[in-house]
Amino acid sequence: MKTIGLIGGMSYESTADYYKIINRLINLHYGGHTSAKIVLYSVDFGEIERYQSEGKWEESARVLIDAAVKLESIGADMIALCTNTMHIVADDIQENIYIPFVHIADVTARRICSKNIKKVGLMATRYTMEMDFYVERLKKFDLEVVLPDQNERKVINDIIFNELVHGIIDEQSKENFIAIANDLVSKGCEGIILGCTEIGMLVKPEDLDISLFDTTQIHCETLVQLAIQ
Ligand code: GLU
Repeated sequence: MKTIGLIGGMSYESTADYYKIINRLINLHYGGHTSAKIVLYSVDFGEIERYQSEGKWEESARVLIDAAVKLESIGADMIALCTNTMHIVADDIQENIYIPFVHIADVTARRICSKNIKKVGLMATRYTMEMDFYVERLKKFDLEVVLPDQNERKVINDIIFNELVHGIIDEQSKENFIAIANDLVSKGCEGIILGCTEIGMLVKPEDLDISLFDTTQIHCETLVQLAIQ
């Protein structure tokens, strides 16, 4: 079994999900008392969030490259960044390590294509929705990406940063998310990307009548497939 290197803490709520999901999938595969080989570098999200809001992407890249290099040096066979947003510096990380970097948008796009879906809605942080790095990556897979309107994007971003990263699950917020998702469906979306690693804490597949692509779940499933190869 290969060792999975996780750069987490963004937030620790979703990183805890990564840890649990990966271990459960590994155990499902091997049975017995087998669990995953994971090395986790959990960063200070306060520092990363400050760099995000100040647009200091180079500073945040430095922190995440340092984490990736350390994980590689202690035996990680692959690296995953447990957040969609910070994939803005994914290329910087890959350039500084020798082991594979498992990109969350690539694995999600491949899953969407395997379901023959072409037009998808994206619900994520404002950085992921509004900066090019993520949508352009999805477009390389010939996907048409639809964003919520400006007010809806603000609602989503506020729920992520004020509630979900603190582990707060609010019923009204869940209803707001579902309403925005339904709005995307009315714009012709055949599926919705939960493009923030905390959204799966709030919205579940049974809440909506459309295919949901939970990036945390898909990322973990891919890492496990690679680890057991
Ligand atoms: N975990 C989130 C994501 O997937 C948001 C937190 C962050 O800004 O890194 O984008």
